[in-house]
Amino acid sequence: MLGFAAALFFGWSKPAAQLDGQAYDWLFATSQTPGWQAHSALLAIDEASLIEMGGPRNLRKTLAEVLPRVCAAKPTAVAVDLMLSTIEDPQTDADLAKAFAQCPSVVLGADIVRKDSIWEEPIAAFRQTSAALAHVHADPDPVSRRIPLEKAVNQKRYWALALEAFRLSKQAGPILESPDDLNVGLTRIPAARATARSIYINYVPSSIPQVTIKQIRHQPEAALQFSNKVVFLGYTDQSAARDRLMTPMGSLMTGVEIHANLFETLHQGIFVTDAAVTLPVLFTLVAVAGAGLIFVFLSGSLAWAAAALWLILVHLAPRLLFSNQIFLGPSMLLSGVWLATIVSASFHYFVIRKQWQKSEADKTRYQQAIHFVTHEMKTPLTAIQGSSELMTRYKLNEDKQKQFAQMIHSESKRLASMIQTFLDVERLAEGEMNLKQDNFALASVLLASLDRARVLAERKEMTLDVGAIPTSQITGDKELLEYAFYNLLNNAVKYSPERTGIECHCSLNDGKVHVAIRDYGMGMDSNDLKKIFDRFYRSKRAEESGISGTGIGLSIVNEIVKQHQGRIEVESELGKGSVFTVILPFAQGPSLDSDIGNANQRTTTAR
Ligand code: ADP
Repeated sequence: MLGFAAALFFGWSKPAAQLDGQAYDWLFATSQTPGWQAHSALLAIDEASLIEMGGPRNLRKTLAEVLPRVCAAKPTAVAVDLMLSTIEDPQTDADLAKAFAQCPSVVLGADIVRKDSIWEEPIAAFRQTSAALAHVHADPDPVSRRIPLEKAVNQKRYWALALEAFRLSKQAGPILESPDDLNVGLTRIPAARATARSIYINYVPSSIPQVTIKQIRHQPEAALQFSNKVVFLGYTDQSAARDRLMTPMGSLMTGVEIHANLFETLHQGIFVTDAAVTLPVLFTLVAVAGAGLIFVFLSGSLAWAAAALWLILVHLAPRLLFSNQIFLGPSMLLSGVWLATIVSASFHYFVIRKQWQKSEADKTRYQQAIHFVTHEMKTPLTAIQGSSELMTRYKLNEDKQKQFAQMIHSESKRLASMIQTFLDVERLAEGEMNLKQDNFALASVLLASLDRARVLAERKEMTLDVGAIPTSQITGDKELLEYAFYNLLNNAVKYSPERTGIECHCSLNDGKVHVAIRDYGMGMDSNDLKKIFDRFYRSKRAEESGISGTGIGLSIVNEIVKQHQGRIEVESELGKGSVFTVILPFAQGPSLDSDIGNANQRTTTAR
């Protein structure tokens, strides 16, 4: 829809009209058919003729001498693309009028002067000898693609020079008019009144034959070229450059030759017409809908191939129509189909890509989750397995049996709670679980996770220093928060070398409790910091260090803290260490001062 609306908007704009003009030129230049035979010839007033006759002031005298020779060859009409509107030497004018009188069907040129308000016509002496007057107006914009067949000012209308010459050569009666066309004899010309009866000139493939005035003077037999043809008399010399106009073939042409080409168009009776206004709109609608539907119903390489084929077909449409003499300005159609293709293709591309990325991420996530669960379960399972094996294989005393049974019980409980936590976190992340809303002391959660982490720290001979813990009450899920703090402490131990220290520091700020866990381990760079909360992300350093991990822990911690209306801040420097700060709101309780005042000062050293 967007593509269609934009195409309509663009298609009716001025730049589109210019592009359509150029498209016409290209279509025209690449589809000219040979096999044409001239039915007109130019009687050219070229440079050499002008020099010989002594300049334009002797033109009438020369024409009076030359025309009888030309007309002796029996042309079918003589179209004069000259302005003969002034009286010059009476004798010469009389001679020329006499020469015109010896010619069949002379058409004399008239033009509009003084800002389109008055006709400039031939003088009476010539008018009397002519069969018709006609306008010699070409209509370049800036290329002479069309010529208006009628021109009217001051309530006086003249047909085009070529049209009158055509009518006279066919010895047809008056031109019959209807709103949509003109009829000359049996020829119907699709020239609508709405377009000032303008038609496209079907330029002939090679140039119109021409004979110069000088040639006629020196080789009178050259006039035979005009036999049975329409003579177009006019200037072709360089100084008539003003009268050289651009053609759709990209070359300049004199006005008189353009008139002769219009005549040839009329004579051939093959007319290119503009497509009806509704046609480009309809074509654009179909093209846009096609491009859209391809990407709705097809996908992958099939969609791309179909889209390419559709584009080719749509591009061929104007050419196909043109070979049937219908010109459809392609800018609306092509801008529409391209826009629709680009929009649909990009939409398709991004949707498919997103789907693919999501399915890939889901796959990896699933694999990682399995890995994580199996890895975490291994330790308690090994303990259970070992204890039960010992119990069955050896005859143990009651105390030992009790000890192993307790171990099996506590490890299976741990296993069950681990599975529960994992499932809870998964459901929490999917937004499927409501958080427990218990009130408990921050210290109880923190100390529990610190106790668990201490076991790990001891193995690496690390110190674990804990500052004052406020007595603040937290509302939420105790087990999940313990899991979160334990995870951060576990990472601090995991990603630090042996015999370094870990510090846990609490503070109150803006009604929130800040728990900072600092280590002096491998640290992370700024790129890692942007990604560590993404599921399964592991820093390159962590991967290369051989420390086992799944990259899932921090995403879970982050989710838990977020569910408690808190946030996590991280500062880190490569090789120097990291500080993870959990910021949580606390429930109504003792004042901040008394919180800090009552804090228990503890330092745990596990060296
Ligand atoms: P895991 O530790 O299982 O890889 P986490 O989600 O807990 O997964 O951590 C993600 C990544 O963040 C780790 O792989 C590591 O690269 C980095 N990371 C987390 N904590 C620290 C830390 N204290 N020091 C350095 N890097 C850390």
